[in-house]
Amino acid sequence: MKLSIDIEKKFSAFSLRFGTTIAGKNTGIFGPSGSGKSTVVKILSGLMQPDRGEITIDGECLFSSTRKINLPPEKRRIAMVFQQALLFPHMSVKSNILYGYKRCADAQRRLNPDALLELLRLQPLLKRGPGNLSGGEKQRVALARAVLANPRLLLMDEPLSALDDTLRFQIIPYLKSVSTEFGIPYLFISHSLVEMQLMADHAIVMEEGLIREETTPEMLARTRMAASRHGYLNLLRISGAEDRNGMFACRWGGNVLLVSENPGTGEALFELSSREIILFKKNPEAISARNLLQCTVTELFRSDTRIGVELTSGGEKLVAEIVPRASEELGITTGSTIFAAIKASSFRRLS
Ligand code: ADP
Ligand code: MG
Repeated sequence: MKLSIDIEKKFSAFSLRFGTTIAGKNTGIFGPSGSGKSTVVKILSGLMQPDRGEITIDGECLFSSTRKINLPPEKRRIAMVFQQALLFPHMSVKSNILYGYKRCADAQRRLNPDALLELLRLQPLLKRGPGNLSGGEKQRVALARAVLANPRLLLMDEPLSALDDTLRFQIIPYLKSVSTEFGIPYLFISHSLVEMQLMADHAIVMEEGLIREETTPEMLARTRMAASRHGYLNLLRISGAEDRNGMFACRWGGNVLLVSENPGTGEALFELSSREIILFKKNPEAISARNLLQCTVTELFRSDTRIGVELTSGGEKLVAEIVPRASEELGITTGSTIFAAIKASSFRRLS
């Protein structure tokens, strides 16, 4: 999928200028509230007309102000999932899901509804009405309906923002696997750095109606480390938890970590703030923190007044945040060995 977009739109107090080419990858649009993300989504889907510009997808023109082309939304084959799942209240879950599929021309019905229902674990919900579904279930229904219309692109405008944290991180694997299994690329819109890191390979950063930069979600999180309220959030996939005196010993790469929160069975996703890691030049031997990792410094980066220290241990990476003075006192350079202390309670379970 190759999407070329070059558009302008002016409201009384706001102007948007958005020009870029999006190819193949799972792309994220990141920006604060009011930066113009939803306006881009509406224009791409055909719900709003830009003042000027051109949009083409795989060589087909969707909009052109000079050539006077403006394909209506239903002809664009771009599906949308919003913050609030907009389901038909009077229809069952099943009818909601099959709505787009039934309206889709036979030739375009290339997806198997049963495989999708299976993947999204929707079978048990089919007979219910949308009124008695949880927020996460509604989003899965909305996703299934969008996907069955066989779009060539899925626009997801803050689809997780209305969900609580637990649900948010439960839905992410579904969003990703649907895209992979059914080969539908997506444009994922969010103002959350963690969501960007989990959902996107490439990030377009918007500010005040303009593209500020295009980067990777990882770089975005690193440059914003000092400014973000919780610093850089490390995302750790851990597994194999064993009860150990009221704490849980888990595998994380080649290391064993002790965490306070029960990771459950299978793989769990935890976050750890860069500010919760304390660095020591030498092995401190006795400390109250339950985790002490011997690490190699693999990269140093600057974020405003802070220094980010990328540590590698047991084949996994962590980012710790320190002030420049601490960096000097510890004599940190790339390649040096350092000890990282982390309290068991500093790890927070996401899913
Ligand atoms: P975001 O999704 O990033 O929060 P939006 O695209 O919704 O941002 O809005 C960007 C700006 O455009 C906001 O200042 C908003 O008030 C303004 N805006 C959006 N839609 C309209 C509209 N139909 N009429 C006037 N102003 C609008
Ligand atoms: Mg918005």
